[in-house]
Formats: sequence, C-alpha cells, structure tokens
Amino acid sequence: MTGRRELYLQEMGLGPVWRLKPAAAEPPSPLDIQSMDSAELEAVVANCTACVLHKTRTRTVFGVGDENADWLFVGEAPGAEEDAQGEPFVGQAGKLLDNMLKSIGLKRGENVYIANVLKCRPPGNRDPLPEEVARCMPYLERQIDLIRPKLIVTLGKFAAQTLLGRDVTIASLRGKIHAYRGIPLIVTYHPAYLLRTLQDKAKAWEDLCLARETMQGLSSVESTII
Ligand code: SF4
Repeated sequence: MTGRRELYLQEMGLGPVWRLKPAAAEPPSPLDIQSMDSAELEAVVANCTACVLHKTRTRTVFGVGDENADWLFVGEAPGAEEDAQGEPFVGQAGKLLDNMLKSIGLKRGENVYIANVLKCRPPGNRDPLPEEVARCMPYLERQIDLIRPKLIVTLGKFAAQTLLGRDVTIASLRGKIHAYRGIPLIVTYHPAYLLRTLQDKAKAWEDLCLARETMQGLSSVESTII
C-alpha cells in the first residue's frame, strides 16, 4: 500500500493500517541445494533458519580455504570464538589445527579447506541434535560435491560418526582408511580434545601420517594413470 493511500485512509478515520508481516523465506530443499554454486550456497547458509540454532548464533560459519583443495578437514560445529568471527577453528584449537597441518606440510587456505558439520554454534557448545544435523548436512554435502577433495580428514568423534553413519568410538575408527561417497576418509581427534588430552597427541600424529601417506598414494596413482 502506498504512503498516499494510507494518508487518505487515515484522514477518513480508517487508520491505522495494519500490514501482514512478510513470511520468513522457506529454507531451500536438499534438491535446490544440490544445484547451487559456492557463492549461492554461502549466501543461503548466511540466512538459514532451517533449525533452532539460527536463533542463538552470532553469525554462520560456512568454511574457509581453497575451494579446489585436495584436502578437506571437517569438524563438529562452531564454538564461541568461531561464532564471533565467522571462521572455523580459530582460537587455541585453531592454532593447534594449523600446527597439525604444518606438521604434514600443509597450510590453511593452500590446497586445504576446513568446514564443520554444523554451520551455527549450539548454545553452550552442547552436542548437536539429530534434527539439526539432518537440516544442516545438505550444506556440507554440497560443499564436498563442489570442492571434490581427494581426501577427507574428520576431526573428532562427532564428524566421523556423522560422515560415516556409524555410532562407534573414535578409537575403533582410527588407523583405517574409510570412504565417504567414494572419497577416502581418515579419522583423527578434534584439536579442542587434544588441548585437554595431551597424551593423545601422539595418536593424532599417527593419523596425520596415515593421511599424508594416503594422499601420496593417491597422487602417485594419478600420475601413473596420466
Ligand atoms: Fe541452518 Fe545449519 Fe544454522 Fe541450522 S545449523 S540454522 S540448518 S545453517
């Protein structure tokens, strides 16, 4: 309704004029998400209201890095610092992750992409709920389709269980090469856990060595085929 029409109505004693609040945009369907490019996906995630976590987040945390990376690292969900900054793995856990990457010759942003299963922080860093994971997973699935990494490394139990669809301990998943939709996947500990549990750093180092050997194997197979 135009301003002039409102004015006439008010003068005729027919105001105030009540407007219907526009309905919130419907979250996209998984099918819509599958056809999005990276920029569209990031914009949709930034405005996503598909689960309750949108009510408590400061900002969404889409992911960071080289969108053509061979390496994809996947964690659980943003924490307080990630929620404030909009980037995954910042703060002490982020520093440790950067050092873990460095130990196998990698650097954040260079042939490496880092993302989480959930794009919004669960309040108080509680565990993500199944409903939240179900709503958010299509975004990560699309990110993986777009990046097409050669190798995925999951950080922590939650990411491993979610991508592998198995409710088992991280100890039983470590030391093996799994697959997510045909992409080799290796499981290691979450850097935040390693900050609290120093004795497991040696095991994380073993996992990183396995990841590096696996990537070297994949690259040498590729060069043989070429
Ligand atoms: Fe949307 Fe994922 Fe955030 Fe839930 S956690 S509001 S599904 S982006």
